[in-house]
Order: sequence, then structure tokens, then C-alpha cells
Amino acid sequence: MTLILPEAVKKIISILESNGHEAYAVGGCVRDSILGKNPYDWDITTSALPEEIKSVFNRTIDTGIKHGTVTVRIFGEGYEVTTYRVDGDYLDGRHPKEVSFTASLEEDLARRDFTINAMAYNDRSGLVDIFGGREDLENGILRCVGDPELRFTEDALRMMRALRFAAQLDFKIEPDTYAAIKKLHKRLEMVSAERIREEFLKLIVSDHPELLDQMSEVGLTSVFLPEWDMMIGCEQNTPHHAYDVSGHTIRAMQGVDKDKDLRLAALLHDVAKPLTKTTDESGDHFSGHPVLGEKMSKKILSRLKFDNATIARVSAMVLWHDVRPEPDKKSVRRVVSKMPANIFPDIFSLKKADILAQSEYKREEKLQRLEAFQDLYNSIKQEGECISIGDLAVGGKDMMDIGISKGPMIGAMLKKLLDMVIDDPTLNEKEVLMDIARKEYEGEGNQ
Ligand code: ATP
Ligand code: MG
Repeated sequence: MTLILPEAVKKIISILESNGHEAYAVGGCVRDSILGKNPYDWDITTSALPEEIKSVFNRTIDTGIKHGTVTVRIFGEGYEVTTYRVDGDYLDGRHPKEVSFTASLEEDLARRDFTINAMAYNDRSGLVDIFGGREDLENGILRCVGDPELRFTEDALRMMRALRFAAQLDFKIEPDTYAAIKKLHKRLEMVSAERIREEFLKLIVSDHPELLDQMSEVGLTSVFLPEWDMMIGCEQNTPHHAYDVSGHTIRAMQGVDKDKDLRLAALLHDVAKPLTKTTDESGDHFSGHPVLGEKMSKKILSRLKFDNATIARVSAMVLWHDVRPEPDKKSVRRVVSKMPANIFPDIFSLKKADILAQSEYKREEKLQRLEAFQDLYNSIKQEGECISIGDLAVGGKDMMDIGISKGPMIGAMLKKLLDMVIDDPTLNEKEVLMDIARKEYEGEGNQ
């Protein structure tokens, strides 16, 4: 089989070869090329030792020299070149162990996680496929290289990787591999939150976020996202809904773009429903779920070691996902002034996906109402109407000129002015606001 390698990769391989070493493209890039996809990056594996790699290229960076990885800069781009290795990085599922190098490509391929990731290629030898990766690729099967229980015991993250590749590629997990995950899922506890997060993210921004259900079935979510397990089977006995909370959530995720924050917000928007559910003669209610959901989202995302910006933005979308202002400008200004600016316009996509993941009951009405909200929001923005203290025609300095002393009084006065301007935008003129502020200040018994 012939694959098309980028010029830079060919060059790196031929330089290594002409210095007496073996070198191949390996792993994800070979897999993706066979699938006809554009590989995200190209990794090269070689019999050359790190010092030897460094000696034959002009520009190299010691990326992970301990693990045998050197970045070679060529044609303005960096390529990771790694010496054939025997060990994985995380042999006891927790601590990185010293790796040992080997002269055998076969041994290097044998330490890789799945058959479809354990193929190497160069123009001289063609495809090196010792474990049946190509056949599994053709049949859409994800299978461990070697004994699955052993491989998951070496590195428990591989269980997460199995599900993320299944979601990205729409592959089935081979039964023995699947059974091993089910048996060993608890070992994921030994893996760092950061490593779990990266695989989890790839799954939820994939074409198949519904694999979250499989992730629960094998027990993995019980380790890092037990909140998801609670959403499964949480019925919603109301005309607005047609699915349980997890079924609704999956549909909402499928309904938004494959964007990290949007998918996370869709995943978490109803996370508090199982905890806020009450039932009376009219059915189920979930009052307060956005407020509790915001809190829970912050906790979950911090636990998974997301960065602060992501935590703030996603949890804000969860808090505001259910807001439905009256379809008039004043009501919309009022609501929007309370919402963080950076969740627009994504919050509208989330709201739309939420509606479309519900039952058809009143769907048209809900969509029209949402469209009105969005149109009004757009026109408020276009006309530059004031919705925040920063948009006011006066500022802190003006308040001090009136005689208000520095500190919380100034903020309180500006807030009061903002409330008035939100009700009546024509008030947003410097002189008008100065007059109002003066009167308010004096009215409070100040001179
Ligand atoms: P992606 O396209 O998402 O980067 P990838 O297959 O390149 O997918 P990487 O995480 O970049 O995945 O890893 C590169 C290669 O290293 C894999 O294809 C696999 O051969 C090997 N590998 C990565 N992580 C592990 C692991 N935990 N255990 C065993 N082999 C692994
Ligand atoms: Mg990769």
C-alpha cells in the first residue's frame, strides 16, 4: 500500500536512513492517512537514539528527551521524532517509568494502545502492520494490541482512549477489549484529571457524543463524572419533554457545533435536574435547576482541571440557558445587562439546541420567542444601546465631581443610573445623568 507522506516527513526519514538508521511515520498519522483523512500531525519513529537524531539535523528541540522524543524543525515546522521504545509512559497506571529504547520496530509497535494506532509506514518498506491494524480499520473495530486486561492495567487512560476513538471514528469496541474496560474501569481513579480531561473533551466534541452512554455502561463515568450516571434514567414527566435527562442532553449536544465550550455547556445545562426534581399531580418539576446547575458545573469543571476562563464561561451558559425575557427591548436589555458579554452569541445556539431536544409541544412558539430574543439582542447591540455601566455617558470621575466620595457609593450610584437608562435609553446623556445623580445624592441627605 502506498501512502502520501508530506515532503518534510520524507526528508526526515531519508536523512535518518542515509545515516544508517530506520525511520517510519507511525501511529495516528498512518491511521488517518489510510482512512483518507488529513492527519493532525505526523509522528516519526526511528531506531536512532536521541543523540543520534540530534546529530543529523541542524535544528532540533529536546521536547521529551527522557522519553526519546526530539522535535526536528524542517521547512518551518516541527516534527516529533521518537526513538523506538519498549515501555509505555505509565506502566503502573500512575507513575511515569523510565523508558527503555529498543532496536526493534516490532517492539515499539507492540507497546502502542490499539491495532489501528500500531502501524508504521515509509516508502521503502510500505505499510508495517503486525497486529492486523489495517483489517480492523476496514472493519471499524477498536482492539487492543495484545491482552486488553494487561494493556489497561499498564495504563488505565487507554480505556478512555478506546471510547474517544470509538466516538471519533464511529468504531465498535471489540468484545474482549470492551469486557476488559468493564472489568477494570475503577483503575481510571489512578489517572490524573488532566489526562482524563483531554480524552473526554475529544469524545464530547466528536460526531458521536452519544458514546457517553457507553462510557457509563462500562463504568468509566462513575469514576470521573458520576453526575452523568444520575442523569441517565432521570425521567421528565412533562409535556415539554420526550426523553429522560440524559437522552435530552445528548440531543442538545448533537444540536450544537463541535465547539468545546458549547458542547460542555450542552452537557451540563441540565446537570442539576436529578437533584431538583419534584413531582406533583401535574407532573415533574425542576425548579432552580439552572442556579444549582451553575454551581455544580463549576465544581465538575474544576475537578477536571479546566482553566478558569472555560469554567466561568460554561457555567454562565448553564446559569442562563433557561432565561426567557418578554419579547420587548426593555425586558431584553434588562436580562442581557445581567448576562456576561462573552456568552453571546453562543448562548442562543445552546438555547435553540435545548428546544429542539425537547418534545414538539409548543416548539414553534418556543423557537419564535427565542428568535425574537435574538433579534432584539442584535438590534440593541447594533444601536449601541446601554446595557452595562461601561456604556453609560457618565463614569466614576463624574460622580466624584458631584461630591460622591470614592468607594462603594460611586458604584451604587452608577448601578442606579444604569437601571434607569435600561428602562429609558434616551436618558443616556451626560448632562441628564449628572442632573439625576446630583438630585439622588442630595435626596439621600448629602450636600
Ligand atoms: P490524534 O489524532 O487524536 O492525535 P493519535 O493516535 O495521534 O490521535 P496521540 O495521543 O497523539 O494519538 O498518540 C500518538 C500515538 O502514540 C498513538 O497513535 C499510539 O500509537 C501511541 N499512544 C498514545 N498514547 C498511548 C497510550 N496511552 N498507550 C499506548 N500507546 C499510546
Ligand atoms: Mg497525535
